Amino acid sequence: MRIPLIIQLAASHRISRYIRATMLFILMITGYSGTVFANQIEVITESPGQGSMIIGKLSGNGRVFVGSQELQLTRNGYFVFGVGRDAPPEVTINAKFNTEEKSLSIPIKSRHWKIERVNGLPPSKVNPKSKAVLARITKEARLVKAARNRESEMEYFKMKFIMPAKGRISGVYGSQRVLNGEPKRPHYGLDIANKTGSKVIAPADGVVSLIHSNMFYSGGTIVIDHGYGISSTYIHLNSISVKNGQKVAQGESIGTIGATGRASGPHLDWRLNWFNTRLDPQLLIND
Ligand SMILES: [Zn+2]
Repeated sequence: MRIPLIIQLAASHRISRYIRATMLFILMITGYSGTVFANQIEVITESPGQGSMIIGKLSGNGRVFVGSQELQLTRNGYFVFGVGRDAPPEVTINAKFNTEEKSLSIPIKSRHWKIERVNGLPPSKVNPKSKAVLARITKEARLVKAARNRESEMEYFKMKFIMPAKGRISGVYGSQRVLNGEPKRPHYGLDIANKTGSKVIAPADGVVSLIHSNMFYSGGTIVIDHGYGISSTYIHLNSISVKNGQKVAQGESIGTIGATGRASGPHLDWRLNWFNTRLDPQLLIND
């Protein structure tokens, strides 16, 4: 009587699976309600350093602040912020719940920055003085600032980012530039050198918030909004193949590498921002 035995076994197997699933379900329900109603702040990003984008999660019904700045929460309680190149060794996140307040201090690893000295540059390239050029620089800076300050509720910042181009890393975030002996603003991008025309792709999903064919410093420029203040910037582009407001998917072509604007050779300068704080895009790739 082989067949009934098999049926019996299958049936008992189904029953035990059903019981196990039920028990698991009960555990999930109790565990789940336990986390939802406990007021808690949690940092998800592991060992953040200067220039890091930091993702966290709030459990319970409350508001989250870093310093005096309130962070917007996603539907599921996630928040994101960034710490700049010169961030102090500790940053405190405060959460205000209905009846209690909680704070969480997170250590920020200090990093060492390279110093790049460049001498013998024509003074006009180091310090542009023409009124028309200065007006153009101001106008363009305002456009970029507006794109970076957009507030949107997209959760693409949580994606695992990929490199936006292939090539040799020819410059890193944070290096201090001393031009003709004069300390200038640090370099905030990751430079990826490759031939003019090499493909540039979106490292994560987002919406294009700015395109410009030729800015004074940055040449062909794209800004992509990944949500909640996180945006990424692509400069010195030779061509742009996306439109303002366009939704882009990770891996999708957005343009090509060039040497437009103030660039010494063809490369992509890739940047990451949390509103006006400049972050290190390489930290999204290295972990
Ligand atoms: Zn650069």
